[in-house]
Amino acid sequence: MGNYFCHLDNSDAEGFSISNGGTSVFIAVMCLAGHEIATNDWQKDLLTWISTHDLHVIGNGNTGFDISELGWQAERFDEQKRFMLQLTERARLKTNWEKLPYEPPMDRAVYALDKFDALVHTFELEHCQNTELQWMIEPKRPLIRCPMHDIFFHSQGCVICNDEIAG
Ligand SMILES: [Zn+2]
Repeated sequence: MGNYFCHLDNSDAEGFSISNGGTSVFIAVMCLAGHEIATNDWQKDLLTWISTHDLHVIGNGNTGFDISELGWQAERFDEQKRFMLQLTERARLKTNWEKLPYEPPMDRAVYALDKFDALVHTFELEHCQNTELQWMIEPKRPLIRCPMHDIFFHSQGCVICNDEIAG
């Protein structure tokens, strides 16, 4: 059972499926790529929302998402798209990977990051519906960071710590 990432309303966008293990790595490296460059609430919320896609909280096979769900705002679309592309770029450069408790399989991580990057590239202003982020589980406010990994906590802790505890 894998997890599906897509943009269903766009026929130019190519969805992709990755394994549960691959998804854990993808979510972790995106969070690690972003926490240092997230300066506004939208960016911090987005990273927290991504981290909520934690296999140990919402279960295997449920952690993919449609990129139209990222809380895009038309008036700040360019800035938000730039931030998303920065995340995939920094993740591909292994930003903060030394904080991971394991050595991620590079080929699988790059596959997911390339596919996700392509999805973001095909996401245009016309696709933006000004829909707020929908939380599966709301995080505690104010947002706080994991003292070990520096990424934002979701409602039930840190997605990397949870992975480590579960082994
Ligand atoms: Zn942690």
